[in-house]
Amino acid sequence: MAGIYIHIPFCKSFCTYCGFYSKLIRNNGATELFVAALVKELESRRMFLPKGSIIKTIYMGGGTPSILSPKQFMSIFTALSQQYDLSSVEEFTIEVNPDDICSKYSEGLLEAFKTCGVNRVSIGIQSFCDEHLNWMNRRHSAAQAEQALHLLRSLFDNISLDLIFGFPLLSHEQWKNNLEKAVASGVQHISAYQLSVDPESVLAQQSKDGHFLECDEDICRTQYEFMQNYLVSKGFDQYEISNFCKKGFHSRHNSSYWTREPYLGLGPGAHSFDGSRLRCWNEPDLANYLERAEPECEMLSDVDIYNEKVMLGLRTSAGIDAELLRGAVVHNLSYDPAKNRYYIAKQDLFISDSIILDYLQ
Ligand code: SF4
Repeated sequence: MAGIYIHIPFCKSFCTYCGFYSKLIRNNGATELFVAALVKELESRRMFLPKGSIIKTIYMGGGTPSILSPKQFMSIFTALSQQYDLSSVEEFTIEVNPDDICSKYSEGLLEAFKTCGVNRVSIGIQSFCDEHLNWMNRRHSAAQAEQALHLLRSLFDNISLDLIFGFPLLSHEQWKNNLEKAVASGVQHISAYQLSVDPESVLAQQSKDGHFLECDEDICRTQYEFMQNYLVSKGFDQYEISNFCKKGFHSRHNSSYWTREPYLGLGPGAHSFDGSRLRCWNEPDLANYLERAEPECEMLSDVDIYNEKVMLGLRTSAGIDAELLRGAVVHNLSYDPAKNRYYIAKQDLFISDSIILDYLQ
């Protein structure tokens, strides 16, 4: 069974650190045109998933999917359900921003999600401190973050929350407070990312101009390790470098990327994969997308596949099949003899990038 990813490429403003493909939205016209193009793509793309395929997971990300009106969201869902068999969908996630949840609650956006079978909501909180949110140029306040979580909790029992650590303004006390608030909110899943300078972000320009200095690596490590210990003490399991969940609440859609299952990506910039060697992607360009540009594709070589398996697998607590490293000198991985798998020990996950590099070809 396969997954579907849908990219909604619009934001009302850009967050300082973000490098995702997205266009600034000023009116509803562009979203209308986009939704029409997306429905067309859904009706015409047969490359990876023939009509009637059974879908296991759906993930709507962005950009900002919560920018859509209930009607636009329902149009996309209707097109989806006309093309594919959604009767076995285990997980349907939508990414939302707190400001949309607060301002569009009365428009029935959350009800539309529920009606269409959304059963998991991923909310970009990033911090519960207004000073941080201003610096990141987020569109919401700390109070809105809490209000949005409260509203979501009244309708959904599978909520994921994103946080960011490792930026200069964040003190240890504030990080502790962010984690405490995240846990107290009752969410089932927490993703936490260390701030990095994405070359496509505003931060990259600030860094070039000397207006931004990255946080000291020792401080980042302290914050990461504090988070690991704190979240585990609160009943969360760390199942991937940046992801923690209560038992049974891991992201099924994201996990299927790590185990290289097939998925179809729709929308500008979205990638598709046949589960074996073929990867295709839509150019990250809204204008070309509206003109129905064909996706680009590549065939993965044996070395590409090996590297993908190592890179993706070692990010997870499940690790990789030991056979994959047959003949390699293994020196900094842990080994589970019962499962015959190698994995990175929890205390080494902070330096996982450099460990993974040792095993790439
Ligand atoms: S973080 Fe999300 S809301 Fe902010 S610019 Fe990136 S895609 Fe848009």
